[in-house]
Amino acid sequence: MKICRFEFEGIARYGVMDDEAVKSLVDEPYDELIFDGMTYPISDVRLLAPCEPSKIVAIGKNYAAHAAEMKEGQPDEPLVFLKPNTCVVADGDDVVYPRISKRLDYEGELGVVIGKRAKHVKPGEAHKYIFGYTCLNDVTARDIQKSEPQWTRGKGFDTLCPIGPHIETEIDPSRLAIVTRINGEIRQSSTTDMMTHNIDKLICYITECMTLLPGDIIATGTPEGIGSMQVGDIVEVEIEGIGVLKNTIVKDD
Ligand code: MG
Repeated sequence: MKICRFEFEGIARYGVMDDEAVKSLVDEPYDELIFDGMTYPISDVRLLAPCEPSKIVAIGKNYAAHAAEMKEGQPDEPLVFLKPNTCVVADGDDVVYPRISKRLDYEGELGVVIGKRAKHVKPGEAHKYIFGYTCLNDVTARDIQKSEPQWTRGKGFDTLCPIGPHIETEIDPSRLAIVTRINGEIRQSSTTDMMTHNIDKLICYITECMTLLPGDIIATGTPEGIGSMQVGDIVEVEIEGIGVLKNTIVKDD
């Protein structure tokens, strides 16, 4: 099932969509899907980011080939950092090139959307807390990330976390093709089974520290092939069985 958020006549709602239409929901989709009886043609609505996370918990260096291209080793345990929810934009939205950065990189990633309050999750039980999956771009001001030990600024500028276009709730995430394109040219191409720490491990590890709430997102790390973007570029993250997340890089003015 494809869960989305959308705007129609200035009002934001959650909905269940197919290629032609979206059926709107009364409330958030996490507990149960209660329809309000309205259906809108896709062409009449504007898609919003498909969830409203309190936080994005991101994982660094979770694909060995990416750690290698950064000339960095991989930590034994997941490397966890946060992106603020003010980073979030939707499919089709602009990504603003930060005016104090000189290198802005794409990082195509599988996003895991949490469906149930999660704390101290036991191994093997993480699937109970997952609502679905979406495409995510962990856009990074690489020069700023590298200039200081904390990644918060380099990863935390407004608009640097496109997610979408929707959440897919019925998919096995264990071996999905993930591709990133710039202006139609493939730059990253891998599969999610190349992750070092799988999703089950990540959820257990993160929830030993912090509570994950419905709508929170885990950015599971990027494969090899990262690189920079310029103003005017169109960046796409496509994940098999989910869809294509497409954004344009614009100048900050
Ligand atoms: Mg990343």
